[in-house]
Amino acid sequence: MTVGSKDLRFGFDVDAIRDRYREERDKRLRPDGDDQYTELSGKFLHYNEDDPYAAPLARDPVERDVDVAIIGGGFSGLLAGARLQEVGIQDLCIVEAGGDFGGTWYWNRYPGAQCDVESYSYLPLLEETGFVPENRYSFTDEIFEYCQLIGRRFGLYDRTYFQTRARSLEWDEGLKRWRLRTSRGDDIRARFVINGLGTASRAKLPGIPGIEDFEGHSFHTSRWDYEYTGGGVNSPLTRLADKRVAIIGTGATAIQCIPRVAWAARHLHVFQRTPSTLGFRNNKETDVDWYRSQAPGWQDERRRAFADMLQGVPVADDLAETFDNRVNKNSQALRDLIAREAPKTPRETAFLVEVADHQIMNGIRQRVDDEVRDAATAEALKPWYRRMCKRPTFNDEFLACFNQDNVTLVDVSDAKGVERITPKGVVANGVEYEVDCIIYASGFEITSDFKRRMGFEIKGRGGKSLFDHWRGGLGSMKTLHGFSTRGFPNWFYIGVSQNAVGFNMTQMFDEQARHIAYVIAETQKRQGLTVEPSEAAQDAWVQEIRDTAVDATKFQMDCTPGYYNNEGNPGGGMTSGAYQGGINRFNEILSAWRSAGDLAGLEISRAE
Ligand code: NDP
Repeated sequence: MTVGSKDLRFGFDVDAIRDRYREERDKRLRPDGDDQYTELSGKFLHYNEDDPYAAPLARDPVERDVDVAIIGGGFSGLLAGARLQEVGIQDLCIVEAGGDFGGTWYWNRYPGAQCDVESYSYLPLLEETGFVPENRYSFTDEIFEYCQLIGRRFGLYDRTYFQTRARSLEWDEGLKRWRLRTSRGDDIRARFVINGLGTASRAKLPGIPGIEDFEGHSFHTSRWDYEYTGGGVNSPLTRLADKRVAIIGTGATAIQCIPRVAWAARHLHVFQRTPSTLGFRNNKETDVDWYRSQAPGWQDERRRAFADMLQGVPVADDLAETFDNRVNKNSQALRDLIAREAPKTPRETAFLVEVADHQIMNGIRQRVDDEVRDAATAEALKPWYRRMCKRPTFNDEFLACFNQDNVTLVDVSDAKGVERITPKGVVANGVEYEVDCIIYASGFEITSDFKRRMGFEIKGRGGKSLFDHWRGGLGSMKTLHGFSTRGFPNWFYIGVSQNAVGFNMTQMFDEQARHIAYVIAETQKRQGLTVEPSEAAQDAWVQEIRDTAVDATKFQMDCTPGYYNNEGNPGGGMTSGAYQGGINRFNEILSAWRSAGDLAGLEISRAE
């Protein structure tokens, strides 16, 4: 079998595609990497700290003891609250920055906001709540309402301090408790703490020169200003009819809100550095009879199948049909290719994987030609990189917007981004575009310094900072299963850590919440005061991660820059250092560990 070069058996020139990918990557690489983004402060601090959705709440500071304090009231915190109660732990409280539950779905209410994972797999606890999602893909308002429903169903409202931010967390060796101090002056002495702050909770802005000088209106998508735009998630933005609007960014968020702004604004300028891959959405209403006919245990099974499918494992036809069928077809195309070509070496197999990727990407690029009339605009909207270099997006309205007279695509790839912002507008490629409003769809801090993302200090035994302890990121931290770390007794972490990371974040959070609830309950059953991993158990887990690691450095470095590859710099990226055996395998490891019942690798101390 020929590997690469001018092998046209597949209908395209693999080398030519590789060359184009390299060119497109190189022109976007920036020496400042992640530092090109600014931490929100000064004039922009309100993008992270203000809550445009809730009236300010007045309350006195609280001083209290509690068994478990949960930081964050998004899906991680809600699931922790629910799973703790399942194992009999009622004495808990939640500290949440927003005015209600929801986390991501509380803050991200931009028009068109929708979850890219099907609701039947994404919305957790569906069997427990009996909730029927309206559509296969839920919009943000339904997800937010569902978070509220979970809050009510599990009695969490009375136990939550809203509009309250954690400011510091310190282990008190005398009390054998954590002292959680908040923005409200609270002093909460918690036996156990669960950190569930999510992966995209701090907005970021591009460090574009002059960004502070703009005299028009501006906001970040995670704090959508409906006061200014009018309308809602699914209703027309009525106040934009006389406005010239700029949107900076074309990631997963922008893809969803651009059509809504395009339909409403006098003019929309979309500033695009890297085009997204755009899959079909094909949303449809839930077939309620089908939904109600599911057998008990269906949701766990469905989530497992969804994760399998995304890893290329064949799933039953009826499941594949209701997922994004193309993902399944793409995996099938690869399996067919392998069966036909019968590769004999790992190199040959890797080549076929690449060919299948080019086939998918050719289809994605063809869709742009099919839907966008202006040839130059279509060309600029085509993504030239391997499919998993960037977060895939799904939308059926985005491309057609560029056929509207009031929409202009401004390609800023050659200049590595927008050049400058002036009091009147946005400068790109030497041209000033005057606008009334700039909307930053510039994403979140996902790979920046961990302390910066957390936003507060965590000090364990002997006053040691967690951020010093974990300095160097996922690749150098030590944990047991990603949840707990020696020297920080009774402290647990839900989120992206040394665990498996999947597209369906709530599948991940749910298993983590179950597991942590189990560990806390078992510690209490054993009259334990503290629980933490042994050094040996941490070492063994780190070794397991190394043993199962797939070296994706070459793939990553060939990619166009973004947070998946640490903006094109080796040794970072969202999931580097995480467990790579797959989310289902990881969950099996946890489940087997719990079934053994001996809390292997954890050390429990009791009162003398
Ligand atoms: P992203 O980080 O994905 O996108 C930011 C955008 O801003 C990119 O297009 C980036 O370009 C652009 N940008 C940054 N700096 C500049 C600059 N100087 N000039 C011009 N453009 C610039 O953020 P999103 O908010 O879109 O998405 C963040 C994450 O949120 C997603 O990856 C996803 O995980 C999550 N999300 C999930 C959804 C769901 O369905 N569950 C829906 C929406 C978002 P470039 O690509 O070149 O860096």
